[in-house]
Amino acid sequence: MPPEELVPWRDVERWECVRCGKCCKTLDVSLSFEEEEVLKTVRPDSVVYGKIGAYVRRVDGKCVFYAEKSGKGMCTIYSLRPKACKLYPFYVRNSGPENARYGSFYVFLHRECEGIGVGRPIAEILPEVLNISPVPVPETSASRGLCSESPSRRSGRASCKFSAHALNRQSSSRSR
Ligand code: SF4
Ligand code: SF4
Repeated sequence: MPPEELVPWRDVERWECVRCGKCCKTLDVSLSFEEEEVLKTVRPDSVVYGKIGAYVRRVDGKCVFYAEKSGKGMCTIYSLRPKACKLYPFYVRNSGPENARYGSFYVFLHRECEGIGVGRPIAEILPEVLNISPVPVPETSASRGLCSESPSRRSGRASCKFSAHALNRQSSSRSR
């Protein structure tokens, strides 16, 4: 991922998923083997394979598990969403500028997330990010969303995602 797409966490005061659905409509979500098996039990055709592994299928640009309600995005498999989805828009790296350093790691947010600048203080959220992703992800991978509430509690909430697995931009995705 180009560095210009990532914002060091100290440059972001607040964050909250505003359920815009943008990430579910623009990003590829890579899957671990375990996640692949789980999603295939939910929907057998929900997994596709690329050069470096399995991804959630997208149809017309959107994740097959994405839906909208009252103008808000939501994940129809919220409790089963991949780790990458739980983490987005957060990315944990082994190196970076000082304003991204958090303990032994370097934490960034994807600048295209619509939730940057609203919601909870960013410092409150970082422990949760590291709890989901205790090890940095490879440079080619991404992490994703951190929704604190499920659709069952906040109807129509867009997914918040992510993991040690890639969530690549649509522009870099392979055909599916
Ligand atoms: S994580 Fe960001 S881009 Fe994705 S739905 Fe929430 S606010 Fe939108
Ligand atoms: S959060 Fe749900 S709808 Fe969004 S990309 Fe992940 S699996 Fe798909």
